[in-house]
Amino acid sequence: MKKEDNKLIYTYEDIHSLVRDNYKFIPNNIDLIIAIGTGGFIPARILKTYINVPIYAITVNSYISDKQKNNIDIVQWLDIDLSNKNVLIVDEIDDTRTTLEFCVNKLTTDNGLNNYGVFVIHNKLKTKKYKFPDNIFYYSCSNIIDKWVVYPWDIN
Ligand code: 5GP
Repeated sequence: MKKEDNKLIYTYEDIHSLVRDNYKFIPNNIDLIIAIGTGGFIPARILKTYINVPIYAITVNSYISDKQKNNIDIVQWLDIDLSNKNVLIVDEIDDTRTTLEFCVNKLTTDNGLNNYGVFVIHNKLKTKKYKFPDNIFYYSCSNIIDKWVVYPWDIN
């Protein structure tokens, strides 16, 4: 990782190493991964190299409105039943947590999610908009200061 103009810039090798060095903390009873796209797609695929379970995907688009409100548009959702599955939700970064909150709530109401954990590459150390239940597995490979992270797949 290098710091440049107040940004934290990561390479593919950095991301792969973070997954490789941390997947062992994931409980070994996971049935499937749900990747939150698009940022969670590549981390989820790297993770599949180490915990070989199917990956399902949902895609959302989060943005800040002119009223400084966090909005989320659904690009694609799943129509599978998740009740009694051990689901690992994977995303690249936990910032305000609005996205993870939205996805957990919708997966619960629409898909019967009742047993899940969360795995992210980065967690920004800041006040969150949502608190996960105490009993869920939550893991971030790296806790970072509240700076903008540049991922290798965003570099053009
Ligand atoms: P949230 O605030 O809901 O936790 O994060 C919303 C989404 O914004 C994340 O899933 C991620 O796609 C994007 N995001 C938040 N912070 C960063 C960042 O520092 N770098 C990049 N590339 N995306 C971010």
